Amino acid sequence: MNSAKKRTYDAIVIGSGISGGWAAKELCEKGLKTLVLERGRDVKHIEDYPTTLMNPWEFEHRGELPLEVQKANPIANRCYIFKEDAAHFVVKDAEHPYIQDKPFDWIRGYQVGGKSLLWARHTQRWSKYDFEGPARDNFAVAWPIGYDDIAPWYSHVEKFAGIAGNRDGLDTLPDGEFLPPFEMSCVETYFKEKLVEKYPNRHVISARMAHLTKPQPIHLEQGRGKCMNRTICQRGCPFGGYFSSNASTLPWAAQTGKMTLRPNSVVHSIIFDEKKQRAKGVRVFDAETKEMMEFYARIVFVNAAAFNTNLILLNSTSNRFPNGLGNDNGLMGKYVAFHNYRARVSAEYDGFMDRTTDGKRPGSSYMPRFRNVYQQETDFLRGYATVLWAEREQSFSSDGLGVDLKTNITTKQLGNWKVGMLMMGETIPKASNYLALDKQQLDPFGMPKLKISIDYDDNDEKMIKDFFEQSETMFSSAGFRNFKTSDSHQAPGLDIHEMGGVRMGKDPKTSLLNAWNQLHACKNVFVTDGACMTSTSTQNPSLTYMALAARAADFAVKELKAMRL
Ligand SMILES: Cc1cc2nc3c(=O)[nH]c(=O)nc-3n(C[C@H](O)[C@H](O)[C@H](O)COP(=O)(O)OP(=O)(O)OC[C@H]3O[C@@H](n4cnc5c(N)ncnc54)[C@H](O)[C@@H]3O)c2cc1C
Repeated sequence: MNSAKKRTYDAIVIGSGISGGWAAKELCEKGLKTLVLERGRDVKHIEDYPTTLMNPWEFEHRGELPLEVQKANPIANRCYIFKEDAAHFVVKDAEHPYIQDKPFDWIRGYQVGGKSLLWARHTQRWSKYDFEGPARDNFAVAWPIGYDDIAPWYSHVEKFAGIAGNRDGLDTLPDGEFLPPFEMSCVETYFKEKLVEKYPNRHVISARMAHLTKPQPIHLEQGRGKCMNRTICQRGCPFGGYFSSNASTLPWAAQTGKMTLRPNSVVHSIIFDEKKQRAKGVRVFDAETKEMMEFYARIVFVNAAAFNTNLILLNSTSNRFPNGLGNDNGLMGKYVAFHNYRARVSAEYDGFMDRTTDGKRPGSSYMPRFRNVYQQETDFLRGYATVLWAEREQSFSSDGLGVDLKTNITTKQLGNWKVGMLMMGETIPKASNYLALDKQQLDPFGMPKLKISIDYDDNDEKMIKDFFEQSETMFSSAGFRNFKTSDSHQAPGLDIHEMGGVRMGKDPKTSLLNAWNQLHACKNVFVTDGACMTSTSTQNPSLTYMALAARAADFAVKELKAMRL
Protein backbone atom coordinates (compact mmCIF):
# COMPACT_ATOMS: atom_id res chain seq x y z
CA MET A 1 0.00 0.00 0.00
CA ASN A 2 1.43 3.40 -0.87
CA SER A 3 1.75 5.94 1.85
CA ALA A 4 -1.12 8.18 0.66
CA LYS A 5 -3.43 5.18 0.66
CA LYS A 6 -2.34 4.33 4.19
CA ARG A 7 -3.33 7.83 5.22
CA THR A 8 -6.77 7.63 3.63
CA TYR A 9 -9.94 7.10 5.67
CA ASP A 10 -13.66 7.33 5.13
CA ALA A 11 -13.96 10.13 7.64
CA ILE A 12 -11.74 12.48 9.61
CA VAL A 13 -12.86 14.01 12.90
CA ILE A 14 -10.85 17.00 14.15
CA GLY A 15 -10.90 17.12 17.95
CA SER A 16 -11.71 14.41 20.52
CA GLY A 17 -13.69 16.45 23.06
CA ILE A 18 -17.41 16.29 23.73
CA SER A 19 -18.60 16.90 20.16
CA GLY A 20 -15.74 15.10 18.39
CA GLY A 21 -16.21 12.06 20.62
CA TRP A 22 -19.83 11.88 19.52
CA ALA A 23 -18.98 12.30 15.83
CA ALA A 24 -16.37 9.52 16.16
CA LYS A 25 -18.75 7.15 17.93
CA GLU A 26 -21.56 7.61 15.43
CA LEU A 27 -19.38 7.41 12.32
CA CYS A 28 -17.53 4.30 13.54
CA GLU A 29 -20.74 2.58 14.62
CA LYS A 30 -22.13 3.16 11.15
CA GLY A 31 -19.11 1.44 9.67
CA LEU A 32 -16.88 4.32 8.56
CA LYS A 33 -13.15 3.95 8.93
CA THR A 34 -12.56 7.08 10.97
CA LEU A 35 -9.42 9.00 11.88
CA VAL A 36 -9.71 11.17 15.00
CA LEU A 37 -7.05 13.87 15.09
CA GLU A 38 -6.36 15.41 18.48
CA ARG A 39 -3.79 18.14 19.03
CA GLY A 40 -3.08 17.21 22.64
CA ARG A 41 -1.63 14.20 24.38
CA ASP A 42 -3.44 10.94 24.94
CA VAL A 43 -5.45 10.60 28.17
CA LYS A 44 -6.60 7.05 28.76
CA HIS A 45 -9.65 6.50 30.91
CA ILE A 46 -8.65 5.77 34.54
CA GLU A 47 -4.94 5.17 33.98
CA ASP A 48 -4.28 8.81 33.05
CA TYR A 49 -6.22 10.36 35.95
CA PRO A 50 -3.26 10.78 38.33
CA THR A 51 -5.13 12.62 41.09
CA THR A 52 -8.41 10.76 41.02
CA LEU A 53 -7.85 8.71 44.19
CA MET A 54 -5.82 11.26 46.14
CA ASN A 55 -6.87 12.49 49.54
CA PRO A 56 -6.70 16.23 50.26
CA TRP A 57 -3.61 15.84 52.46
CA GLU A 58 -1.74 13.99 49.73
CA PHE A 59 -1.53 17.08 47.53
CA GLU A 60 1.77 18.87 47.96
CA HIS A 61 0.03 22.24 48.21
CA ARG A 62 -3.20 20.96 49.79
CA GLY A 63 -5.06 21.52 46.54
CA GLU A 64 -3.89 25.04 45.76
CA LEU A 65 -1.38 25.92 43.05
CA PRO A 66 1.84 27.67 44.06
CA LEU A 67 1.72 31.45 43.71
CA GLU A 68 4.27 31.48 40.90
CA VAL A 69 2.09 29.10 38.85
CA GLN A 70 -0.96 31.27 39.49
CA LYS A 71 0.94 34.42 38.54
CA ALA A 72 2.32 32.83 35.36
CA ASN A 73 -1.23 31.91 34.30
CA PRO A 74 -3.49 34.89 34.93
CA ILE A 75 -6.05 33.66 32.38
CA ALA A 76 -6.30 30.01 33.41
CA ASN A 77 -6.15 31.03 37.06
CA ARG A 78 -9.41 32.95 36.76
CA CYS A 79 -11.21 29.65 36.17
CA TYR A 80 -12.31 27.78 39.31
CA ILE A 81 -11.06 24.51 37.82
CA PHE A 82 -7.41 25.61 37.75
CA LYS A 83 -6.33 23.94 41.01
CA GLU A 84 -3.70 21.40 41.97
CA ASP A 85 -5.97 18.40 41.28
CA ALA A 86 -6.89 19.27 37.66
CA ALA A 87 -4.43 21.90 36.37
CA HIS A 88 -2.78 19.21 34.23
CA PHE A 89 -5.95 19.16 32.07
CA VAL A 90 -6.00 22.96 31.53
CA VAL A 91 -4.02 24.85 28.85
CA LYS A 92 -1.38 27.13 30.42
CA ASP A 93 -1.34 30.75 29.23
CA ALA A 94 2.16 30.74 27.74
CA GLU A 95 1.72 27.48 25.85
CA HIS A 96 -0.93 28.70 23.44
CA PRO A 97 -1.12 32.50 23.38
CA TYR A 98 -3.81 34.42 21.51
CA ILE A 99 -4.52 38.08 20.88
CA GLN A 100 -7.07 39.80 23.09
CA ASP A 101 -8.32 42.72 21.06
CA LYS A 102 -10.69 43.04 24.01
CA PRO A 103 -10.26 41.07 27.25
CA PHE A 104 -11.40 37.47 26.81
CA ASP A 105 -10.52 34.59 29.15
CA TRP A 106 -10.20 31.63 26.83
CA ILE A 107 -10.23 28.42 28.91
CA ARG A 108 -9.13 25.32 27.01
CA GLY A 109 -8.30 21.64 27.49
CA TYR A 110 -5.95 20.29 24.85
CA GLN A 111 -5.84 16.54 25.30
CA VAL A 112 -7.74 13.46 24.28
CA GLY A 113 -11.20 14.13 25.73
CA GLY A 114 -10.79 17.91 25.53
CA LYS A 115 -12.88 19.76 28.09
CA SER A 116 -15.17 16.75 28.60
CA LEU A 117 -12.93 15.80 31.52
CA LEU A 118 -13.40 19.18 33.15
CA TRP A 119 -16.93 20.24 32.46
CA ALA A 120 -19.61 20.81 35.12
CA ARG A 121 -22.00 18.32 33.41
CA HIS A 122 -25.18 20.43 33.31
CA THR A 123 -27.22 19.14 30.42
CA GLN A 124 -30.49 20.99 29.78
CA ARG A 125 -32.30 20.68 26.46
CA TRP A 126 -33.17 23.71 24.39
CA SER A 127 -36.89 24.38 23.90
CA LYS A 128 -38.78 25.56 20.82
CA TYR A 129 -38.63 29.09 22.29
CA ASP A 130 -34.84 28.97 22.10
CA PHE A 131 -34.66 27.87 18.47
CA GLU A 132 -37.37 30.37 17.50
CA GLY A 133 -35.60 33.23 19.29
CA PRO A 134 -33.64 34.95 16.51
CA ALA A 135 -36.54 34.91 14.04
CA ARG A 136 -39.06 36.13 16.62
CA ASP A 137 -36.86 38.79 18.17
CA ASN A 138 -35.15 39.77 14.94
CA PHE A 139 -31.46 39.28 15.70
CA ALA A 140 -28.70 37.12 14.11
CA VAL A 141 -30.47 34.90 11.52
CA ALA A 142 -33.24 32.34 11.84
CA TRP A 143 -32.22 28.83 12.85
CA PRO A 144 -32.72 26.37 9.99
CA ILE A 145 -33.98 23.75 12.45
CA GLY A 146 -36.50 23.73 15.27
CA TYR A 147 -36.97 21.72 18.43
CA ASP A 148 -38.78 18.88 16.67
CA ASP A 149 -35.80 18.31 14.36
CA ILE A 150 -33.41 17.79 17.22
CA ALA A 151 -35.68 16.19 19.86
CA PRO A 152 -35.05 12.56 18.74
CA TRP A 153 -31.32 13.25 18.76
CA TYR A 154 -31.47 14.66 22.26
CA SER A 155 -33.09 11.37 23.28
CA HIS A 156 -30.44 9.41 21.40
CA VAL A 157 -27.51 11.08 23.18
CA GLU A 158 -29.21 11.26 26.58
CA LYS A 159 -29.82 7.52 26.68
CA PHE A 160 -26.18 6.75 25.94
CA ALA A 161 -24.56 9.50 28.03
CA GLY A 162 -26.85 9.02 31.01
CA ILE A 163 -28.62 12.13 32.29
CA ALA A 164 -30.05 12.46 35.80
CA GLY A 165 -33.20 14.56 35.97
CA ASN A 166 -36.89 14.83 36.74
CA ARG A 167 -39.65 14.85 34.20
CA ASP A 168 -40.81 18.35 35.15
CA GLY A 169 -43.26 18.87 32.28
CA LEU A 170 -42.06 22.38 31.39
CA ASP A 171 -42.40 23.74 27.87
CA THR A 172 -39.41 26.02 28.49
CA LEU A 173 -37.12 23.09 29.32
CA PRO A 174 -38.36 19.92 27.62
CA ASP A 175 -38.04 16.61 29.43
CA GLY A 176 -35.63 13.97 28.25
CA GLU A 177 -34.63 10.35 28.84
CA PHE A 178 -33.76 10.63 32.48
CA LEU A 179 -32.15 8.56 35.21
CA PRO A 180 -33.27 9.40 38.77
CA PRO A 181 -32.59 13.05 39.68
CA PHE A 182 -30.36 14.42 42.40
CA GLU A 183 -32.38 15.48 45.42
CA MET A 184 -33.02 19.14 46.07
CA SER A 185 -32.38 20.54 49.55
CA CYS A 186 -35.41 21.37 51.69
CA VAL A 187 -34.93 25.11 51.22
CA GLU A 188 -34.68 24.71 47.44
CA THR A 189 -37.93 22.71 47.48
CA TYR A 190 -39.53 25.29 49.76
CA PHE A 191 -38.49 28.08 47.38
CA LYS A 192 -39.83 26.14 44.40
CA GLU A 193 -43.24 25.83 46.07
CA LYS A 194 -43.37 29.45 47.24
CA LEU A 195 -42.29 30.78 43.87
CA VAL A 196 -44.85 29.02 41.75
CA GLU A 197 -47.66 30.20 44.07
CA LYS A 198 -46.83 33.78 43.13
CA TYR A 199 -45.34 33.29 39.64
CA PRO A 200 -46.99 30.38 37.77
CA ASN A 201 -44.32 30.53 35.03
CA ARG A 202 -41.26 30.44 37.26
CA HIS A 203 -40.02 26.98 38.13
CA VAL A 204 -37.22 25.59 40.26
CA ILE A 205 -36.15 22.08 39.31
CA SER A 206 -33.32 19.69 40.01
CA ALA A 207 -30.72 20.48 37.30
CA ARG A 208 -30.33 17.79 34.66
CA MET A 209 -26.83 16.36 34.99
CA ALA A 210 -24.73 13.92 32.94
CA HIS A 211 -24.28 11.51 35.87
CA LEU A 212 -25.16 7.85 36.24
CA THR A 213 -27.47 7.88 39.25
CA LYS A 214 -28.80 4.48 38.16
CA PRO A 215 -26.70 2.92 35.39
CA GLN A 216 -28.63 1.13 32.66
CA PRO A 217 -27.35 -1.83 30.62
CA ILE A 218 -26.05 0.55 27.92
CA HIS A 219 -23.86 2.29 30.53
CA LEU A 220 -22.58 -0.94 32.04
CA GLU A 221 -21.70 -2.03 28.51
CA GLN A 222 -19.51 1.07 28.27
CA GLY A 223 -17.71 -0.12 31.41
CA ARG A 224 -19.19 2.71 33.46
CA GLY A 225 -20.69 2.53 36.93
CA LYS A 226 -22.80 4.50 39.37
CA CYS A 227 -21.82 8.04 40.32
CA MET A 228 -20.49 8.02 43.89
CA ASN A 229 -21.18 11.73 44.49
CA ARG A 230 -17.50 12.37 45.11
CA THR A 231 -17.78 15.85 43.50
CA ILE A 232 -14.17 15.76 42.35
CA CYS A 233 -15.16 15.00 38.76
CA GLN A 234 -12.58 17.36 37.22
CA ARG A 235 -9.86 14.82 38.10
CA GLY A 236 -11.44 12.20 35.81
CA CYS A 237 -13.77 9.59 37.30
CA PRO A 238 -12.51 6.03 37.81
CA PHE A 239 -16.13 4.82 37.86
CA GLY A 240 -17.09 6.61 34.67
CA GLY A 241 -19.85 8.05 36.84
CA TYR A 242 -20.12 11.19 34.74
CA PHE A 243 -20.07 11.47 30.96
CA SER A 244 -16.75 12.21 29.30
CA SER A 245 -15.43 11.30 25.86
CA ASN A 246 -12.68 9.31 27.58
CA ALA A 247 -15.09 7.14 29.58
CA SER A 248 -17.82 6.82 27.01
CA THR A 249 -17.81 7.74 23.31
CA LEU A 250 -14.12 7.20 22.48
CA PRO A 251 -13.79 3.68 23.96
CA TRP A 252 -17.10 2.83 22.31
CA ALA A 253 -15.80 4.03 18.94
CA ALA A 254 -12.51 2.15 19.51
CA GLN A 255 -14.23 -1.15 20.18
CA THR A 256 -15.86 -1.04 16.73
CA GLY A 257 -12.34 -1.52 15.32
CA LYS A 258 -13.02 1.38 12.94
CA MET A 259 -11.36 4.24 14.82
CA THR A 260 -7.77 5.38 14.59
CA LEU A 261 -7.06 7.95 17.28
CA ARG A 262 -4.00 10.08 16.62
CA PRO A 263 -3.04 12.33 19.56
CA ASN A 264 -0.36 15.04 19.16
CA SER A 265 -1.79 15.90 15.76
CA VAL A 266 -2.35 19.63 15.33
CA VAL A 267 -4.65 20.23 12.39
CA HIS A 268 -3.36 23.21 10.45
CA SER A 269 -6.00 23.40 7.72
CA ILE A 270 -8.42 21.50 5.53
CA ILE A 271 -7.21 20.74 2.00
CA PHE A 272 -9.56 21.81 -0.77
CA ASP A 273 -9.42 19.90 -4.06
CA GLU A 274 -9.86 22.60 -6.71
CA LYS A 275 -10.58 20.06 -9.44
CA LYS A 276 -13.28 18.17 -7.58
CA GLN A 277 -14.48 21.24 -5.69
CA ARG A 278 -14.56 19.40 -2.38
CA ALA A 279 -12.41 18.92 0.67
CA LYS A 280 -10.01 16.03 0.29
CA GLY A 281 -8.32 15.88 3.68
CA VAL A 282 -6.36 17.82 6.27
CA ARG A 283 -2.85 19.13 6.90
CA VAL A 284 -1.46 18.17 10.27
CA PHE A 285 1.62 19.08 12.30
CA ASP A 286 2.88 16.27 14.45
CA ALA A 287 3.24 18.04 17.82
CA GLU A 288 6.24 15.93 18.79
CA THR A 289 8.27 15.76 15.55
CA LYS A 290 6.93 19.03 14.05
CA GLU A 291 6.60 17.11 10.80
CA MET A 292 3.80 18.29 8.48
CA MET A 293 1.71 15.52 6.98
CA GLU A 294 -1.55 15.04 5.15
CA PHE A 295 -4.49 12.72 5.76
CA TYR A 296 -7.35 12.14 3.35
CA ALA A 297 -11.03 11.29 3.68
CA ARG A 298 -14.37 11.61 1.97
CA ILE A 299 -15.87 13.67 4.79
CA VAL A 300 -14.39 15.89 7.49
CA PHE A 301 -16.04 16.73 10.83
CA VAL A 302 -14.61 19.84 12.47
CA ASN A 303 -14.96 19.57 16.27
CA ALA A 304 -11.97 21.48 17.61
CA ALA A 305 -14.22 23.53 19.98
CA ALA A 306 -15.85 26.73 18.74
CA PHE A 307 -12.91 29.13 18.45
CA ASN A 308 -10.34 26.61 17.23
CA THR A 309 -12.83 25.44 14.61
CA ASN A 310 -13.08 29.05 13.40
CA LEU A 311 -9.28 29.23 13.39
CA ILE A 312 -8.85 26.05 11.33
CA LEU A 313 -11.52 27.03 8.78
CA LEU A 314 -10.24 30.60 8.43
CA ASN A 315 -6.75 29.16 7.96
CA SER A 316 -7.97 26.76 5.23
CA THR A 317 -7.40 28.99 2.22
CA SER A 318 -7.33 28.01 -1.44
CA ASN A 319 -7.90 29.67 -4.82
CA ARG A 320 -11.59 28.96 -4.49
CA PHE A 321 -11.75 30.13 -0.87
CA PRO A 322 -9.12 32.85 -0.29
CA ASN A 323 -10.81 33.96 2.96
CA GLY A 324 -11.33 30.59 4.59
CA LEU A 325 -13.09 27.38 3.67
CA GLY A 326 -16.73 28.01 2.84
CA ASN A 327 -16.41 31.70 3.66
CA ASP A 328 -17.99 33.14 0.51
CA ASN A 329 -20.04 35.73 2.37
CA GLY A 330 -17.21 36.95 4.63
CA LEU A 331 -19.22 36.16 7.77
CA MET A 332 -16.96 33.44 9.14
CA GLY A 333 -15.64 34.43 12.58
CA LYS A 334 -18.44 36.95 13.10
CA TYR A 335 -21.52 36.80 15.31
CA VAL A 336 -19.69 34.95 18.05
CA ALA A 337 -21.39 35.01 21.43
CA PHE A 338 -21.18 33.56 24.92
CA HIS A 339 -23.12 33.39 28.18
CA ASN A 340 -23.19 36.24 30.63
CA TYR A 341 -22.16 34.75 34.01
CA ARG A 342 -21.23 38.00 35.75
CA ALA A 343 -24.07 38.25 38.25
CA ARG A 344 -24.83 36.42 41.48
CA VAL A 345 -27.11 36.97 44.45
CA SER A 346 -27.23 35.50 47.91
CA ALA A 347 -29.53 35.57 50.94
CA GLU A 348 -30.27 33.73 54.18
CA TYR A 349 -33.27 31.84 55.47
CA ASP A 350 -34.11 31.42 59.11
CA GLY A 351 -36.44 28.42 58.84
CA PHE A 352 -35.69 24.69 58.68
CA MET A 353 -33.14 24.97 61.47
CA ASP A 354 -33.82 21.35 62.40
CA ARG A 355 -32.76 20.16 58.93
CA THR A 356 -29.60 20.00 56.85
CA THR A 357 -28.20 18.36 53.73
CA ASP A 358 -26.65 14.93 53.77
CA GLY A 359 -23.59 13.95 51.74
CA LYS A 360 -22.47 15.58 48.53
CA ARG A 361 -24.31 16.42 45.33
CA PRO A 362 -22.56 16.96 42.01
CA GLY A 363 -25.36 19.23 40.80
CA SER A 364 -27.66 22.01 41.93
CA SER A 365 -31.15 23.31 41.39
CA TYR A 366 -31.98 25.24 38.25
CA MET A 367 -34.51 27.83 37.15
CA PRO A 368 -35.21 27.88 33.40
CA ARG A 369 -35.61 31.22 31.63
CA PHE A 370 -38.85 32.99 32.51
CA ARG A 371 -38.20 36.45 31.05
CA ASN A 372 -39.53 37.31 27.54
CA VAL A 373 -40.51 33.72 26.80
CA TYR A 374 -44.10 34.05 25.64
CA GLN A 375 -43.94 37.76 24.82
CA GLN A 376 -41.48 40.64 24.97
CA GLU A 377 -41.93 42.10 28.47
CA THR A 378 -38.71 44.02 29.23
CA ASP A 379 -36.50 46.65 27.59
CA PHE A 380 -33.85 44.02 26.83
CA LEU A 381 -33.98 41.03 24.51
CA ARG A 382 -34.12 37.41 25.67
CA GLY A 383 -33.41 36.41 29.30
CA TYR A 384 -31.52 34.31 31.78
CA ALA A 385 -31.66 30.95 33.47
CA THR A 386 -30.23 30.56 36.96
CA VAL A 387 -28.37 27.95 38.91
CA LEU A 388 -29.68 27.89 42.47
CA TRP A 389 -28.45 26.28 45.65
CA ALA A 390 -29.27 26.37 49.35
CA GLU A 391 -27.26 24.79 52.11
CA ARG A 392 -26.43 25.43 55.73
CA GLU A 393 -23.32 27.33 56.59
CA GLN A 394 -20.77 25.15 58.31
CA SER A 395 -17.99 26.12 60.60
CA PHE A 396 -15.79 24.51 63.23
CA SER A 397 -13.60 25.78 66.00
CA SER A 398 -9.86 25.16 66.07
CA ASP A 399 -9.54 26.10 69.72
CA GLY A 400 -7.96 23.84 72.29
CA LEU A 401 -5.18 21.29 72.38
CA GLY A 402 -5.03 17.50 72.10
CA VAL A 403 -8.38 15.81 72.57
CA ASP A 404 -10.18 19.19 72.79
CA LEU A 405 -8.71 20.31 69.48
CA LYS A 406 -9.63 17.03 67.83
CA THR A 407 -13.18 17.23 69.13
CA ASN A 408 -13.54 20.86 68.07
CA ILE A 409 -12.28 20.42 64.52
CA THR A 410 -14.37 17.34 63.91
CA THR A 411 -17.56 18.88 65.31
CA LYS A 412 -19.31 20.94 62.69
CA GLN A 413 -21.36 23.94 63.80
CA LEU A 414 -24.30 24.44 61.50
CA GLY A 415 -25.27 28.04 60.81
CA ASN A 416 -28.12 29.59 58.85
CA TRP A 417 -29.37 28.39 55.51
CA LYS A 418 -27.54 30.29 52.75
CA VAL A 419 -29.19 30.61 49.36
CA GLY A 420 -27.36 31.57 46.19
CA MET A 421 -28.21 32.12 42.55
CA LEU A 422 -26.00 32.59 39.49
CA MET A 423 -27.33 34.25 36.36
CA MET A 424 -26.76 32.52 33.03
CA GLY A 425 -27.71 35.16 30.50
CA GLU A 426 -28.19 34.80 26.76
CA THR A 427 -26.04 37.23 24.79
CA ILE A 428 -26.99 38.49 21.36
CA PRO A 429 -24.61 37.53 18.52
CA LYS A 430 -23.40 40.62 16.65
CA ALA A 431 -21.08 41.21 13.70
CA SER A 432 -18.97 43.45 15.95
CA ASN A 433 -18.13 40.47 18.19
CA TYR A 434 -15.68 38.62 15.99
CA LEU A 435 -12.64 36.37 15.61
CA ALA A 436 -9.89 36.96 13.06
CA LEU A 437 -6.45 35.58 12.25
CA ASP A 438 -3.28 37.59 12.65
CA LYS A 439 -1.14 36.19 9.86
CA GLN A 440 1.86 38.23 11.02
CA GLN A 441 1.99 36.45 14.36
CA LEU A 442 2.48 32.70 14.03
CA ASP A 443 2.53 30.10 16.78
CA PRO A 444 5.22 27.37 16.97
CA PHE A 445 3.22 25.26 14.49
CA GLY A 446 3.00 28.02 11.92
CA MET A 447 -0.65 28.69 12.73
CA PRO A 448 -1.68 32.34 12.75
CA LYS A 449 -2.67 33.55 16.20
CA LEU A 450 -6.36 33.96 16.87
CA LYS A 451 -7.51 37.52 17.55
CA ILE A 452 -10.56 37.68 19.81
CA SER A 453 -12.68 40.82 19.86
CA ILE A 454 -15.74 40.30 22.03
CA ASP A 455 -17.52 42.44 24.59
CA TYR A 456 -20.72 42.87 26.57
CA ASP A 457 -23.33 45.36 25.38
CA ASP A 458 -26.19 47.41 26.75
CA ASN A 459 -28.55 44.42 26.53
CA ASP A 460 -26.28 42.48 28.91
CA GLU A 461 -26.16 45.35 31.40
CA LYS A 462 -29.95 45.69 31.43
CA MET A 463 -30.31 41.95 31.93
CA ILE A 464 -28.04 42.00 34.98
CA LYS A 465 -30.10 44.83 36.49
CA ASP A 466 -33.30 42.87 35.90
CA PHE A 467 -31.80 39.70 37.41
CA PHE A 468 -30.89 41.62 40.58
CA GLU A 469 -34.37 43.17 40.83
CA GLN A 470 -36.26 39.97 40.10
CA SER A 471 -34.12 37.88 42.45
CA GLU A 472 -34.67 40.32 45.29
CA THR A 473 -38.44 40.22 44.78
CA MET A 474 -38.51 36.42 44.47
CA PHE A 475 -36.27 35.89 47.49
CA SER A 476 -38.14 38.33 49.71
CA SER A 477 -41.48 36.78 48.77
CA ALA A 478 -40.09 33.51 50.15
CA GLY A 479 -38.99 35.22 53.36
CA PHE A 480 -35.27 35.16 52.59
CA ARG A 481 -33.38 38.04 54.19
CA ASN A 482 -29.98 39.74 53.97
CA PHE A 483 -30.14 39.88 50.17
CA LYS A 484 -26.83 40.69 48.49
CA THR A 485 -25.83 41.16 44.87
CA SER A 486 -22.48 40.82 43.20
CA ASP A 487 -21.32 41.67 39.69
CA SER A 488 -17.90 40.13 39.06
CA HIS A 489 -17.36 42.32 35.98
CA GLN A 490 -15.43 39.37 34.62
CA ALA A 491 -14.43 39.49 30.97
CA PRO A 492 -16.35 37.24 28.58
CA GLY A 493 -14.95 33.71 28.43
CA LEU A 494 -15.17 32.30 31.93
CA ASP A 495 -18.60 30.89 31.13
CA ILE A 496 -16.63 28.58 28.78
CA HIS A 497 -19.63 28.57 26.46
CA GLU A 498 -18.16 30.46 23.50
CA MET A 499 -20.25 29.87 20.38
CA GLY A 500 -20.76 30.93 16.77
CA GLY A 501 -18.62 32.22 13.93
CA VAL A 502 -19.69 29.44 11.55
CA ARG A 503 -23.38 29.75 12.13
CA MET A 504 -26.19 27.61 10.77
CA GLY A 505 -28.91 29.20 8.66
CA LYS A 506 -31.19 28.77 5.73
CA ASP A 507 -29.51 31.18 3.33
CA PRO A 508 -25.88 30.80 2.11
CA LYS A 509 -25.73 34.59 1.84
CA THR A 510 -26.19 35.04 5.58
CA SER A 511 -24.91 31.81 7.12
CA LEU A 512 -22.09 29.27 6.70
CA LEU A 513 -23.78 25.96 7.49
CA ASN A 514 -27.07 24.44 6.41
CA ALA A 515 -29.62 22.56 8.50
CA TRP A 516 -27.38 19.47 8.51
CA ASN A 517 -24.25 21.32 9.70
CA GLN A 518 -22.68 21.07 6.24
CA LEU A 519 -20.74 24.03 4.92
CA HIS A 520 -23.10 25.51 2.29
CA ALA A 521 -20.17 25.89 -0.10
CA CYS A 522 -18.23 22.69 0.66
CA LYS A 523 -20.70 19.97 1.42
CA ASN A 524 -18.34 17.26 2.65
CA VAL A 525 -17.23 19.38 5.63
CA PHE A 526 -19.43 19.33 8.75
CA VAL A 527 -19.13 21.59 11.80
CA THR A 528 -20.92 20.28 14.88
CA ASP A 529 -19.32 22.03 17.83
CA GLY A 530 -20.18 25.42 19.32
CA ALA A 531 -19.02 27.22 16.16
CA CYS A 532 -22.26 26.21 14.43
CA MET A 533 -24.53 27.93 16.94
CA THR A 534 -26.74 30.63 15.46
CA SER A 535 -27.75 31.94 18.88
CA THR A 536 -26.81 30.96 22.42
CA SER A 537 -29.99 30.64 24.46
CA THR A 538 -29.40 30.24 28.21
CA GLN A 539 -28.83 26.52 28.65
CA ASN A 540 -25.38 24.98 29.03
CA PRO A 541 -24.71 24.09 25.41
CA SER A 542 -22.82 20.78 25.25
CA LEU A 543 -25.89 18.51 25.14
CA THR A 544 -26.99 20.41 22.04
CA TYR A 545 -23.54 19.96 20.42
CA MET A 546 -23.77 16.21 21.14
CA ALA A 547 -27.23 15.96 19.55
CA LEU A 548 -26.21 18.03 16.53
CA ALA A 549 -23.07 15.92 16.05
CA ALA A 550 -25.01 12.64 16.16
CA ARG A 551 -27.69 14.01 13.84
CA ALA A 552 -25.15 15.31 11.29
CA ALA A 553 -23.16 12.04 11.39
CA ASP A 554 -26.31 10.07 10.64
CA PHE A 555 -27.08 12.39 7.73
CA ALA A 556 -23.50 12.27 6.41
CA VAL A 557 -23.44 8.49 6.33
CA LYS A 558 -26.78 8.38 4.51
CA GLU A 559 -25.50 10.92 1.98
CA LEU A 560 -22.29 8.93 1.48
CA LYS A 561 -24.25 5.74 0.92
CA ALA A 562 -26.48 7.52 -1.59
CA MET A 563 -23.30 8.75 -3.35
CA ARG A 564 -24.35 12.36 -2.83
CA LEU A 565 -21.15 13.28 -1.01
C1 LIG B 1 -14.89 24.05 34.06
C2 LIG B 1 -15.86 23.85 32.93
C3 LIG B 1 -17.21 23.70 33.21
C4 LIG B 1 -18.12 23.49 32.16
N1 LIG B 1 -19.41 23.20 32.46
C5 LIG B 1 -20.27 22.87 31.47
C6 LIG B 1 -21.59 22.43 31.78
O1 LIG B 1 -21.98 22.27 32.93
N2 LIG B 1 -22.41 22.14 30.75
C7 LIG B 1 -22.04 22.30 29.47
O2 LIG B 1 -22.86 22.07 28.58
N3 LIG B 1 -20.79 22.71 29.15
C8 LIG B 1 -19.90 22.98 30.12
N4 LIG B 1 -18.62 23.36 29.82
C9 LIG B 1 -18.27 23.55 28.42
C10 LIG B 1 -17.97 22.23 27.73
O3 LIG B 1 -16.83 21.67 28.28
C11 LIG B 1 -17.78 22.50 26.25
O4 LIG B 1 -18.96 23.09 25.73
C12 LIG B 1 -17.51 21.24 25.48
O5 LIG B 1 -16.39 20.55 25.95
C13 LIG B 1 -17.32 21.58 24.01
O6 LIG B 1 -17.10 20.41 23.29
P1 LIG B 1 -16.15 20.48 22.03
O7 LIG B 1 -16.06 19.14 21.45
O8 LIG B 1 -16.63 21.57 21.14
O9 LIG B 1 -14.76 21.01 22.60
P2 LIG B 1 -13.70 20.31 23.57
O10 LIG B 1 -14.36 19.39 24.50
O11 LIG B 1 -12.89 21.41 24.13
O12 LIG B 1 -12.81 19.46 22.56
C14 LIG B 1 -12.10 20.08 21.49
C15 LIG B 1 -10.87 19.25 21.21
O13 LIG B 1 -10.29 19.70 19.98
C16 LIG B 1 -8.88 19.70 20.13
N5 LIG B 1 -8.30 20.64 19.15
C17 LIG B 1 -8.34 21.98 19.17
N6 LIG B 1 -7.67 22.48 18.10
C18 LIG B 1 -7.22 21.42 17.40
C19 LIG B 1 -6.44 21.31 16.22
N7 LIG B 1 -6.00 22.39 15.51
N8 LIG B 1 -6.12 20.06 15.77
C20 LIG B 1 -6.55 18.94 16.45
N9 LIG B 1 -7.27 19.02 17.59
C21 LIG B 1 -7.61 20.24 18.05
C22 LIG B 1 -8.67 20.12 21.56
O14 LIG B 1 -7.38 19.76 22.02
C23 LIG B 1 -9.80 19.39 22.28
O15 LIG B 1 -9.40 18.13 22.73
C24 LIG B 1 -17.67 23.53 30.82
C25 LIG B 1 -16.31 23.69 30.55
C26 LIG B 1 -15.41 23.82 31.60
C27 LIG B 1 -13.95 23.92 31.29
